[in-house]
Amino acid sequence: MHVPLTVSDFLDRAALVYPERTAVVDEPGVPGSFGTITYGELAERAAGMAVALDQLHVPVGGRVGIVSPNAARFLTSYFGVSGFGRVLVPINFRLNAAEIGFIVEHSGTEVLLVDPEYDKELAGVSARVRIVLDGVDDAELFAPAAGRVPRGWDPDEDATCSINYTSGTTARPKGVELTHRNCALNAMALGWHTGVTDRDVLLHTLPMFHCNGWGMPYAVTGMGGRHVVLRKVDGEEILRRIEDEQVTLMCGAPAVVAAVLAAAESRVSEGRPVPMAARNGQSPTRAVRIVVAGAPPPSSVIERVEAELGWEFIQIYGLTETSPLLTVNRAPLEWDGLPSNERSRLLARAGTPAIGVRMAVDGDGEILARSNHVFRGYWRQPEESERVFADGWFRTGDGGRFDGAFVVISDRKKDVIISGGENISSIEVEDALYGHPAVLEAAVIGVPDERWGETVKALVVLRPGATVGEADLVEFCRSQLAHFKCPTSIELRDSLPRTATGKLQKFKLRQPYWQDRDSQVN
Ligand code: AMP
Repeated sequence: MHVPLTVSDFLDRAALVYPERTAVVDEPGVPGSFGTITYGELAERAAGMAVALDQLHVPVGGRVGIVSPNAARFLTSYFGVSGFGRVLVPINFRLNAAEIGFIVEHSGTEVLLVDPEYDKELAGVSARVRIVLDGVDDAELFAPAAGRVPRGWDPDEDATCSINYTSGTTARPKGVELTHRNCALNAMALGWHTGVTDRDVLLHTLPMFHCNGWGMPYAVTGMGGRHVVLRKVDGEEILRRIEDEQVTLMCGAPAVVAAVLAAAESRVSEGRPVPMAARNGQSPTRAVRIVVAGAPPPSSVIERVEAELGWEFIQIYGLTETSPLLTVNRAPLEWDGLPSNERSRLLARAGTPAIGVRMAVDGDGEILARSNHVFRGYWRQPEESERVFADGWFRTGDGGRFDGAFVVISDRKKDVIISGGENISSIEVEDALYGHPAVLEAAVIGVPDERWGETVKALVVLRPGATVGEADLVEFCRSQLAHFKCPTSIELRDSLPRTATGKLQKFKLRQPYWQDRDSQVN
């Protein structure tokens, strides 16, 4: 028997088994917050959303874009849009209006959902239908189905579930087309490797737009776990929610870990307790699990998470293109008695291939992967897709090696900077700088940063006779690009090293900032 894998399976099961259970505790005090809803209600609202999209004449395969921080409405859209055969386009709300406009246009988004906080800034970004998520404009969209039946969709596991735009090696973001099969198998493997059960309470510290929250929202839903929405990452707020909501699980980039450690430090200095474990029902207390990816976390940070917080640290590695799970590093039985510094050192590696994932390293040291989690291709960019698929393997653009069965990421082959877990295209920032009349040449590189892992640095050669201040150039970039992409420092140079063919030698430019480090990524 062959039954198509779709993301609707996750909510269908929760609604069948746990209709009365709390599904979501939405962020309180924001316009249109759902408050606390059960799985029965979540399923009703997802079906209601499908009915509303029927009424708006959005066909199967039609794209629905969403620009929103984490919210119960976003979680509902994973199911109300994708679960009924339409394609969700989750968009990074930190991008500026022009960047979001490009994604809306490129994806062919028919219905655009906009959080009220971004409504004014995005006034010029429109689609056939534009709905503000303020609890009024979207009241119809999220009303329970209440007996109304959505138009049917013949489930197809190879249909596109979402298009997740990611910055990469091109000046414009690329649309990663994830299928239902990709998303469903990723969620199952992720849930299994991180031990998700019906007792889990997931705090949404990872943006829901980022690769559909790595698939964790599907996994937690499938088990009937509880979602606690967090709109904005703040260390102390995370600790407070852990106490108030008995949180057991969260995901994030190393910057989230840094925020939590700083907040815990403040609490300790004030003599206040730091929540370590949650008790759910009658089960014994379990340590909070934090799943980290986006950059290699330093082993000293891992040691602090385990020693100072008493939490379990789990590292995963992957890309939006791989749904994202490729490897997982969760301490096995054999490491139980090891001294904490040794355990942390072992946990600092990206991990071993997840179930169903095959990995290899090619002659240039590039990590290759083969799995059902690997995406279909870039939306409407077949030439870019061709570039990343070779002989049945997906090229990650990351450099690394094997340490036994463990993958270690040590370098980046692609010209991408990752700051606070979000990708930034160097070329895009360079393009912006070239728009300034005083700039003759520009090279943008990632340099190590204590807080964000990496931060953007621009090396600039000015036109003869031109003068411009560093702050002015940064300001110029801020007027063109999302602020998180802008250089945090600029150095003026007389020239930039190039190869005989005129290619910039970025590795040479990066070298002085990365020397004395084992790894060339942070
Ligand atoms: P994204 O598609 O935005 O999720 O970014 C994927 C990229 O993040 C990968 O290609 C890596 O460069 C980086 N990355 C993700 N997880 C890890 C990790 N555990 N260690 C090192 N780099 C990582």
